[in-house]
Amino acid sequence: MEITGQCYCGKTRISAKNPLSVVLCHCGDCRRASGAPVAAFVAFDEADLTVNSGNLQNVEVNTGVLREFCGYCGSPITGRYDYLHGTVYVSLGLLDQADALEPTLHAHHDNRLQWLHLSDDVERHGTSARDALP
Ligand SMILES: [Zn+2]
Ligand SMILES: [Zn+2]
Repeated sequence: MEITGQCYCGKTRISAKNPLSVVLCHCGDCRRASGAPVAAFVAFDEADLTVNSGNLQNVEVNTGVLREFCGYCGSPITGRYDYLHGTVYVSLGLLDQADALEPTLHAHHDNRLQWLHLSDDVERHGTSARDALP
């Protein structure tokens, strides 16, 4: 599947292939960085992601976690984690094929917002799902 995406303002455009997993993360860091009740990411091998245009900026609030965002509109684009070396986590919401990319697991499910009820039946990891990630 060829995957394409763009940020809110459209200046940052990406393309990618071979999605490895689709992760819903309920941790407080992802919730704040995304602004959403649960963050959704698609994992790719770093070599399978191309940034075609834009002005990517990044911030490393916690050592070993690099979050990239559009320098024009601030949309969160990727997360890169030292402990998941070689993979990059792209925000699902900016992808044109988001509807076809169903979640494969929940991470930090114990931290979910209690009013959030998702009826999928994929694996739920109470804390970090790092052992189950590529
Ligand atoms: Zn933008
Ligand atoms: Zn998280």
